Amino acid sequence: APNAPNAHGDGTPPSATVPPLPDLPAPHLRDLPFTGGTIDALLREERVFRPLPQVVAGAVVNPQDVTRARARAAADPDGYWEEAAEELEWFRRWDAVHDGSNAPFHRWFTGARCNIVHNALDRHIETGTKNRLALIWEGESGDTRSFTYYQLYREVNRLANALRGLGVGKGDRVIIYMPPLPETVFAMLAAAKIGAVHSTVFGGFSARSLRDRMEDARPAVIVTVDGFYRNGRVIPLKPIADEAVATLPPDLAAGVRHMVVVHRAHMETPMTEGRDIWYHDAVRGQHHEALTEIMDSTDPLFLLYTSGTTGKPKGHVHAHGGYMVGVHRTMRWVFDVKPTDIFWCTAEPGWITGHSYVVYGPLMAGTTTVLYEGHPLYPEPGRVWSMVERLGVTILYTAPTLVRMLMRHGAQHVARHDLTTLRLLATVGEPISPEAWLWFHRHVGRGRCPVLDTWWQTETGMIMLSPLPVSLLKPGSVTRPLPGIEADVVDEHGKPVGPGHGGLLVLQRPWPAMSCGVYNDDESYRRLYWERFPGWYCTGDVARRDEDGYFWIQGRADDVLLIAGHRIGTAEMEAALASHPSVAECAVIGVPDALRGEVAKAFVVLVDDHPPLGTMVNADDLATELVEHVRRELGPVAVIREVTFREGLPRNRSGKIMRRVLRSEELGRDTGDLSTLEDGYV
Ligand code: ATP
Ligand code: MG
Repeated sequence: APNAPNAHGDGTPPSATVPPLPDLPAPHLRDLPFTGGTIDALLREERVFRPLPQVVAGAVVNPQDVTRARARAAADPDGYWEEAAEELEWFRRWDAVHDGSNAPFHRWFTGARCNIVHNALDRHIETGTKNRLALIWEGESGDTRSFTYYQLYREVNRLANALRGLGVGKGDRVIIYMPPLPETVFAMLAAAKIGAVHSTVFGGFSARSLRDRMEDARPAVIVTVDGFYRNGRVIPLKPIADEAVATLPPDLAAGVRHMVVVHRAHMETPMTEGRDIWYHDAVRGQHHEALTEIMDSTDPLFLLYTSGTTGKPKGHVHAHGGYMVGVHRTMRWVFDVKPTDIFWCTAEPGWITGHSYVVYGPLMAGTTTVLYEGHPLYPEPGRVWSMVERLGVTILYTAPTLVRMLMRHGAQHVARHDLTTLRLLATVGEPISPEAWLWFHRHVGRGRCPVLDTWWQTETGMIMLSPLPVSLLKPGSVTRPLPGIEADVVDEHGKPVGPGHGGLLVLQRPWPAMSCGVYNDDESYRRLYWERFPGWYCTGDVARRDEDGYFWIQGRADDVLLIAGHRIGTAEMEAALASHPSVAECAVIGVPDALRGEVAKAFVVLVDDHPPLGTMVNADDLATELVEHVRRELGPVAVIREVTFREGLPRNRSGKIMRRVLRSEELGRDTGDLSTLEDGYV
């Protein structure tokens, strides 16, 4: 990325802004992720938002329910999840709710028989939900397709029969290499319906990334598309899938028996005789009813990779029973789902958020889910707001990166649209700074809509820490663990650090939608998540609790800075920077410093309407101002030695900032696995 001149290009801290500190620790080697101590709490965010009376009055899940659920879950966790499971349909009831005998490979609802697709589709066909809208899809060029539950059911059944006809059966892997299309949803559900294991690979990934995932997953069938629309361009996908298969070892390549290709972009597409088949040919003549495979609760439903933000992506397996209970409960409670809702989660189906809250959650809850094919700013920065208005979206669930992107383009694009249908806003994926939270709350929610900051992971399968619409909110806080979830913040010995200090975020009790393990790699699962504190799940994130017991995510344990003996998470420094009116986006990393062990370096993207540096604004002056701004906000510990202005930051394809890329560039280190890095970043 093009670099504007550095503020202090020679690398020496200007003494005017950075006074030397006493008590110097030994120089710190940051080869190990967060080891030891507590993390300083720097940010003071004191604004609180009480739920509006109309929100409380209209809530299906009201404050008394929440209090009762917490007490119930604390006294009898298995009983709590058992009640949640009873809201769904099973072919056979469980013998045990939870079996931890082979921990950390926990098993949920053992002995039970079920299929998540029965709950997401089949059972609705017997009720009034049958004729409700299940899915509204919008293409980037404005074409739309909508499906009632009955229509979706038919589509899924036809594809399920087609897949069976192609020889796919229980336990076989189906790779879904697709952009957000209705067929992507059909393919996930059809695979699950026949007991196959789907593994969705985001359509933006390269042949190499797809190949690596195939080598791991060994699919029998790949579902893909000729091409799709993104940012006004047509992106061919089938040739990339071909290339990926061609570079597989011959026995694995031969294992890919078929490629089912959706006809979307009307492009000339090479088809391999005998192996490749058009989607429309595969489903033609297929019956619209299909048998739903009866699965064990613990049978795998899907295999999905983490986002690769902190390292090589890890492939996690989730099973039918536990996953369906956890996702259904959180969908209904966090979003307080009502029959009139139009639910838009902007995540791609290929990420965990898409699995849980675009596809399975909304469909199990019988609500209407929205899927959009293209770039959120195409053809203009008001696209998202135009869709909210035209579709009457009531709940918008998105990522802080998109909020920042939209913020950067200014509130005038929001103001042009009637957003009165919105009743709930939510975010996931990264910490949301109080600044961005307030912008979202004020300009999009117009002060009426709660903003729910939800924390969870690919590994957790479901939302873990989050407010509910009736909760008291603090901008930038994920508030508290949901009922049934036990979380704490501890030091490296597992001792709770108490309010006001940061430490490692751990989950102390298993939960139904938890990962069943890393695919084909039990050892990694043990080592990465369970070794540090036996019996507890270590999230890899750092957080603190405040006096009210509210949790504040401070960033990744891998990214913690150690400045003159103070451990500092990246989130608070970045939030402080982001509160400066010139800053659109930023990332902070630690760099070695002779005096303090380590100091911070900030990478800043300026707001769109900022005058170019070097003309009206001197880059050095602005850098100094930012350094002082952060000091004023956070105190003298927050030492930023250098500010670099950039056009953009390295992000992965779900929009998260990859600080490890900045760090390895800075320190001239090997960059590690870059398979999920967004294109265009050099
Ligand atoms: P990898 O594990 O491969 O490094 P990743 O952790 O980004 O990638 P995901 O499972 O997609 O993969 O993301 C989970 C992570 O996202 C969490 O561990 C956390 O760091 C971050 N995250 C999710 N929600 C929030 C939130 N509300 N606030 C702060 N951080 C969040
Ligand atoms: Mg992770």
